[in-house]
Amino acid sequence: MKTACLVTFGCQMNVHDSQRMEELLRADGFELVAEPEGADVIILNTCSVREKAEQKLRSEVGRLKRLDALVVVTGCVAQQEGEKLLSRVSHIDAVIGPDNLHELPGVLRELEGGAPPLVRAQFDTEAPRFLVNEAAPGAVATSAYVTTMKGCNERCSFCIVPYTRGPERYRSAEDIVAEVERLVSAGAREVVLLGQTVNSYRDPAVPMPEGADPDDSQFASLLRRIVERAPSLVRLRYTSPHPRHVTSDLLRAHAELAPLAEHVHLPVQSGNDRVLKRMIRRYTRAEFVARADALRKARSGLVLSTDVIVGFPGETAAEFDDTLSLVREVGFCGLFGFKYSPRPYTPALKLRDDVPEEEKQRRLQALFELSEEQLRAHLATLVGSRATVLVEGPSKPGAKTWAGRTQRNEIVHFEAPAPESEVSSAIGAGAVAVVEIIRANKHSLEGRVESVRVPRAERPRSAYRRIALPLVEAPKS
Ligand code: SF4
Repeated sequence: MKTACLVTFGCQMNVHDSQRMEELLRADGFELVAEPEGADVIILNTCSVREKAEQKLRSEVGRLKRLDALVVVTGCVAQQEGEKLLSRVSHIDAVIGPDNLHELPGVLRELEGGAPPLVRAQFDTEAPRFLVNEAAPGAVATSAYVTTMKGCNERCSFCIVPYTRGPERYRSAEDIVAEVERLVSAGAREVVLLGQTVNSYRDPAVPMPEGADPDDSQFASLLRRIVERAPSLVRLRYTSPHPRHVTSDLLRAHAELAPLAEHVHLPVQSGNDRVLKRMIRRYTRAEFVARADALRKARSGLVLSTDVIVGFPGETAAEFDDTLSLVREVGFCGLFGFKYSPRPYTPALKLRDDVPEEEKQRRLQALFELSEEQLRAHLATLVGSRATVLVEGPSKPGAKTWAGRTQRNEIVHFEAPAPESEVSSAIGAGAVAVVEIIRANKHSLEGRVESVRVPRAERPRSAYRRIALPLVEAPKS
């Protein structure tokens, strides 16, 4: 049997694309292997959002030179460099952009038949195609990604994504809901909706009304349809939303839909208005804070995490301090921080990358220290409480403890129940455990399991949680 090894860099979108490529390869008779040594085909699914990821690709390709395998580069670097990648790195056999991944099996057959190195990197703007989870029942993970849209129309000045993923194209709501239904009946208990700015979603089958606000979207309607049609879904997440599309309709969905996670990852990037403007983020600090507050008012207990870039061109020490004060003000419980690095084609290239490397590092360190302090303080408040945990599996292979996540995305580890206990046989990936939290660690919680239930796909339940809440309006931008 032919073997293939997939190496994935970057974001959840790339993880999703790699999972779909694995399914295409299996259907074409490949066995997937974990290590590149001995594989017939090695696929490097790349990311070009940050300089380091691109450097990683170059060193990885260099390392693979010695192996007798076809080397295929997919993802954002493939789209960004296209043909140029072949002329610069001689041992790459194919370059395939994100919109051409369905061509992978055909490309491999051509290469096996002796074709010269190939490039497939065309955007499918006219007739967009979306990779769908084809995993067989039993092979579906507890948590499954479902793509809703691709591309991005925002054009933030530091970001290469609009150039590597193209303009926004949306999948029909009916296709998305049908995929969720199929995944849930095949064993998924959590669905994570993916999109570059997922909450700008518009259903191509239902045109927006004439003169609609450009910040409006049909994302909240999509969430409602999913919850109505897949009542056994335990948890519904989405990533990544753009703050300007946090509409009043989305706030109502957070108030009313019980499976919607009590965690939103809402990228802010900076806490200073001058920097936000130069980043072309299209919101001010005050508007961001108002949206964050509105989300927390809509759903009690909801927590927020974010992305921050430090050392953007021209960012002064005082402007960075504004970011630290915003992180405190919003009280984020998680944060991904990055040092600014100039990316090809982006508008920020015209600005001077004038914050010295050591200063970027100092700011990143200060940001991480604050974020860790806030996470530790948040986790400590949960000791003594009870959490509903969607079990993902053993804490690590062979471990006697189990691990899962709460509605707020906190990681919880708990001892396996004694074999003679009532709940012992019910524990497993996809089970829902009520756990008493007994200890807070740096990044996770530990608890004692109290009860366990195994959700059944066919068991109906009320899709809506009725909560008497004042109507929460999104702030006007
Ligand atoms: S919203 Fe901005 S940061 Fe996010 S993908 Fe689009 S351009 Fe990039």
